[in-house]
Amino acid sequence: MKRTFCFRWGCAFLGIIFPAIAAIPCGAQGVADDSLVFIHANLIDGISNAATMDATVVVTKGRIESIGRGAAPAGRGAVVDLTGHWLLPGFVDAHVHVGNLADAKRALRSGATTIGEAGVNHFADIGMRELNHKGVVDVPDVVAAGYHIRTHPADDYFIDFPQDTDLMGGVRGTEAVRRMVQRMVSRGVNRIKVMATERAGTPDTDPRIRVFNDEELAAIVDEANKTGLWVVAHAHGNEGAAAAVRAGVHSIEHGTYLSDDTLRLMKEKGVYLDPTITALVDMSDPEGEYDNPILQMRGKAMLPTGREMTARAWKMGVKIVAGTDTSYFDKNNRTLADEMIELSDAGMGPMDAIKAGTSVSAEELGVEKRTGSIRVGYEADFVVIDRSPLENIRHIGDVVMVVNNGRIALNRLNVAAHP
Ligand SMILES: [Zn+2]
Repeated sequence: MKRTFCFRWGCAFLGIIFPAIAAIPCGAQGVADDSLVFIHANLIDGISNAATMDATVVVTKGRIESIGRGAAPAGRGAVVDLTGHWLLPGFVDAHVHVGNLADAKRALRSGATTIGEAGVNHFADIGMRELNHKGVVDVPDVVAAGYHIRTHPADDYFIDFPQDTDLMGGVRGTEAVRRMVQRMVSRGVNRIKVMATERAGTPDTDPRIRVFNDEELAAIVDEANKTGLWVVAHAHGNEGAAAAVRAGVHSIEHGTYLSDDTLRLMKEKGVYLDPTITALVDMSDPEGEYDNPILQMRGKAMLPTGREMTARAWKMGVKIVAGTDTSYFDKNNRTLADEMIELSDAGMGPMDAIKAGTSVSAEELGVEKRTGSIRVGYEADFVVIDRSPLENIRHIGDVVMVVNNGRIALNRLNVAAHP
């Protein structure tokens, strides 16, 4: 967000991995500014319903200075020729569990320039958010949630809050849930994550089972709203999800078993749906984050249900966002591109799936005034795709460049453009 792309450093850096632009006059003259100019881009801005061909985008001090057509403005900084490539907003992954810098860097290199955390230990999300804002480490911008509010907090919660040992036997009642929300607020989270049903990704839990009661859910939402935060609710089962929606949550995460009535209520109340279909794909497959035969069987049952629910939700006009529910760990084999492909296949089509993973996710995370779309004044968060994702959404996984706050975080453009 507050990064400055250094012209001299940038030229040296680009020269190493992108020899084609090494010949651009660099800081030697001492006159060119520190801007970065993208020319001949097929631009999908995350908002418009059609692409703009042959676009020119000028980036200065990490932000988008101008968007036009045709030749690069004279006397500006390094020029990146995107002929044949597609320039999109950086991906906004609305649901992750990224808990360390290595994983955060992996997320960024996959195209996620913003991530919405949904439960990590020791407030790693807040630390990474601050490092991003200082511009010192190549990590995505982070919308932090701290620990999940759940009936049995993560063991590590008690390392951070040893004064709460009375909650070790279970978080029950409105005083207890309000206290947990206050703990999160005291550390500076951006949103509150609550578990409204049991988990899907652990063999001994049943994701259809509701956990908190109406009073507890209402207290969680009220306590969060007091400080201007909203609540996102993990819920697979319909009963827990419906209760969370009635309590006033901002989004339903997963929503596998949602009924039409619950979806209708979500539409009425403007509640977002983040179906995280790729997490169900991952559960169904060996390896990945859920390498367990019980979860494979469960995943095989849940996956068609989740896909069908997403198709229904879209037809009913519910706002849908894209989230992976992954930690981007070292064996990670899915990215937000996979989720956008799932959403497109669920009936949204490529352009709306792209919006779900960029501008709509940004809106759900509350960062839509600075990222998630390519607009003048916004952060220069981009991905460059090799071939048209509108022609075939499966091309969206072929990320050849990632720009994060105007700084190039991944560059494979030295490979010739696809004819
Ligand atoms: Zn999750």
